[in-house]
Amino acid sequence: MTNTKTNTFQPLPPPPEACSTCAIEHEATSPHNPQSLYWQTKRRLEGLPAPTWEDALAHVTGAEREAWESQLKDVYGFGCPECGGWKHDHNDYLCKVCRT
Ligand SMILES: [Zn+2]
Ligand SMILES: [Zn+2]
Repeated sequence: MTNTKTNTFQPLPPPPEACSTCAIEHEATSPHNPQSLYWQTKRRLEGLPAPTWEDALAHVTGAEREAWESQLKDVYGFGCPECGGWKHDHNDYLCKVCRT
C-alpha cells in the first residue's frame, strides 16, 4: 500500500456560481470563508499556511470591512489586546508580533 494517490490529490474546481478563491457562494465584496476545505487545500498545495480571517478579509473594504473586523475581533476574540492587530488563532492570547 502506497500513499502516492493522496500526494497528487487536487481539490475539485469550484462550481461556476461560487467564488473562485474559497469555492463558497458569497457576494464579491464579502469575505471568503477561511474554513473552506477547497481554499485550505489550495493554499497547502501552494506551500502556504491555512487561510486566516485576515486573508479572508483582504479584499473587503469600507464599512463592510469595519463591521466584519469589529465582529471578529470583539465577538470572536481575533483581536490582539496589545496592538489591536489580528490573532490568527483566537485561542492565542496575543498576535504573532506581540508574542515574539
Ligand atoms: Zn470566496
Ligand atoms: Zn499584537
